[in-house]
Amino acid sequence: MLVPLACAYPLLDPSFDDTSEQGEQLEHATRDGELSHLSEATLELAAAFVPMQAVVAHAARPVEAEPVAPPPPPPPPTPEELAALLDDAATTLVDLEIKIDPRRGPRGPLPAASGLQQAYDHGRALVLEGRFEQIRQWMALAQFGSREPGPHCGYSPLSRYDLVVTRPAKPAKKGAKELAYLHVVVPARGLPKPGERGTHEAWIGDARWINLADSLDPTADYLPFKTNGNESLARQWAQADVVHAIVDIAGEYHQRTGTVLGIGDLSHVTGGKIEDHWTHQKGVDVDLYLLDHDHPDKAGRPQVWWNHIKRGASLWTAEPKGKGAREPLVDPADELSGTRSSARLEVLAEIVLLVDDIAYFVHNDPVVLDPFDDQAGLRRPGRRFLHADNRGFWPAHADHIHLRWVAGELPVGVAPRP
Ligand SMILES: [Zn+2]
Repeated sequence: MLVPLACAYPLLDPSFDDTSEQGEQLEHATRDGELSHLSEATLELAAAFVPMQAVVAHAARPVEAEPVAPPPPPPPPTPEELAALLDDAATTLVDLEIKIDPRRGPRGPLPAASGLQQAYDHGRALVLEGRFEQIRQWMALAQFGSREPGPHCGYSPLSRYDLVVTRPAKPAKKGAKELAYLHVVVPARGLPKPGERGTHEAWIGDARWINLADSLDPTADYLPFKTNGNESLARQWAQADVVHAIVDIAGEYHQRTGTVLGIGDLSHVTGGKIEDHWTHQKGVDVDLYLLDHDHPDKAGRPQVWWNHIKRGASLWTAEPKGKGAREPLVDPADELSGTRSSARLEVLAEIVLLVDDIAYFVHNDPVVLDPFDDQAGLRRPGRRFLHADNRGFWPAHADHIHLRWVAGELPVGVAPRP
């Protein structure tokens, strides 16, 4: 699936010209009076004809366009240029108040598929070693230009470099200090153009992780969101396959509901413990929000409706535990018609049902989710759609949906655990 990438790519060429040449010529001719000898009826007809011609000309454009050979790529940087680019990177680290001297030699794990070994062999990389918490902050500064980017996809001079975080899959010794590494790499072909970004990824052991905002536009295709307001692009890292699946789910949800999906925490770039969660440590979890953009709060944030089960009935309210205003029913005359949120939950459940890699779908509402639970188990033994009545050891999820990816066999016939 191809998407325009707000974080990963520059803006589209603004010189794109949508007016047709033929339409323009006729317009000029009319303005210049060349058609003045024609009858008024003919002129009217001609005026009416312009938009139609414009449409036809526009539609025909791709066929007429002559293929233009791309300019030859610039030669790869010389050793002197590489040294200068790494010096620039080191200066930028100081500007970003990263107060540690980078090393020019390899350090920490260098997974074969990462290309890091070659980068060091060619003198294209430097590395910072730090505790998980430091590496998270330094990566956010280098990638987004801010220690805590929130939902904003900012920019730093280091965004043009390839930025690669590595860490061992497990600490070398039990109880040993957990260290990770941030490699700043000049791509083999040199830096991309100003305003463009390098490849940003993480390797947890040999597993490749990527950031959601490099695959999906956080200003148009989804909304980074948490109910407590602490959403951050720096907490949207996960295993590459998980991110690709989220991209597809968000795209289909947008298409079917007409609203963008709210997406909260995935994991930190290093993995490991993350505030607000027991889980979300391994790049296999995501929180999703069924946002109501038609009822923003005072700060302009979309409304999230909380699900609450009262005497078997499913309530959707502005505050937790059935408090606050009720979300309007789709059909006010029909108590069983459900709300916009329950309709969105059903759409999301239909989309996710087809993705068998997702082992657990967790949300409070049994009215929507119970029928999906049986179907999920038929598709893949042990797959579950969990809700207030069957959630086992999973915590309640009243304001968002939690998705968990699990590879391999799933436990069957036992109370589900996170
Ligand atoms: Zn969660």
